[in-house]
Amino acid sequence: MSTSPVSSAEGAVIGKDGLAALVDVLRARGYMVIGPTVRDGAIVLDELESAAQLPYGWGVELEAGRYRLRSRTDGAAFANAAGPQSWKTFLHPARVRQWRAERAAGELAIEADDTTPARYAFLGVRSCDLRAIAVQDRVLTAGPHTDPVYRGRRSGAFLVAVECTEPGGTCFCVSMGTGPAAGPGYDLVLTELADAGGHRFWIRDGSPEGAEILAQLPAVPASAAVRGAAVAAVASAADRMGRTMPETDLQRLMAETLDAPRWDDVASRCLTCGNCTMVCPTCFCTTTEDITDLTGDHAERWRIWDNCFDLDFSYLPGGPVRPSSRSRYRQWLTHKLGTWYDQFGSSGCVGCGRCIVWCPVAIDITEEAAALHDWTTHREEEPS
Ligand code: SF4
Ligand code: SF4
Repeated sequence: MSTSPVSSAEGAVIGKDGLAALVDVLRARGYMVIGPTVRDGAIVLDELESAAQLPYGWGVELEAGRYRLRSRTDGAAFANAAGPQSWKTFLHPARVRQWRAERAAGELAIEADDTTPARYAFLGVRSCDLRAIAVQDRVLTAGPHTDPVYRGRRSGAFLVAVECTEPGGTCFCVSMGTGPAAGPGYDLVLTELADAGGHRFWIRDGSPEGAEILAQLPAVPASAAVRGAAVAAVASAADRMGRTMPETDLQRLMAETLDAPRWDDVASRCLTCGNCTMVCPTCFCTTTEDITDLTGDHAERWRIWDNCFDLDFSYLPGGPVRPSSRSRYRQWLTHKLGTWYDQFGSSGCVGCGRCIVWCPVAIDITEEAAALHDWTTHREEEPS
């Protein structure tokens, strides 16, 4: 493929060599490229030194409480839905040291941890995760008190989105209005085609830097046929979502079902392990942990992920505010689908399905919402 001028709106087509060049160009510009790769029987996000590390030829089978890799014959790199990690692993890390203190000769020296974060380029951001990043942007940087850790990692990040053409059995971005086509917020966006026409990527820019980088890739203008095939592939993905949310006002549903017996039912299954919050791309809660060594001369303060399933999370003088599993699961779901709107103006769920896959007892957020919806529907139908 030769490099040719490209129309920004219609985009360009690159091949595997173009994808390899994209990783090289990003690295040459000083970015640490993070993208999907196969490790430990899963597609994880990790630093990529070259595009050869992408999961070419790997897909996934996703079900409640189940994740399996499966090989593909088409060699596609991005025909696999959400893995166990999301981009919050890098933007809002699970553990951050905030400061350390040393005591020597009776003097105490406190040193803030102000390590300069890497400049990240995220390759393969799905539409649901693009929305999740926008949600965390609002939560962690839009208010009067911004999170310096998140801001420092997010502000220089370059996002390469990939539209979904192969949804998983637990995906429901269509129900949440978050995919599978990529919304705004990306610097570049790819749609992968691996069919009789060959293995290629329709690529468009979404920012001036994206346009600059696109101009450096071996690309040809996108024909109407390629654009049509890519749009059709994404539309087909929208029709093949593995899960759906009930078609109702979820915020209202959460507010009207606080006394539903379903909360006892789900509490009898929930282990309150918090896995669902760890994998969720929008959950953001943290706690503070102070540690000292045995001499007492060295201390550190760490910020670590926490979650509403942890009994200590709502501990106030006198005890925890949510002592039962019922109250903790209900807090999580009603916040995600209901009170998140009051706080941040959007849903806290983007329909990625990770909490369904990684729940050890296969609790399914769409099934729980549907059960609550059924309960309200039948309650309204009962004669008074
Ligand atoms: S819903 Fe599942 S993943 Fe979440 S806390 Fe309960 S058992 Fe753990
Ligand atoms: S609640 Fe579940 S489906 Fe929704 S964004 Fe979080 S992990 Fe994804």
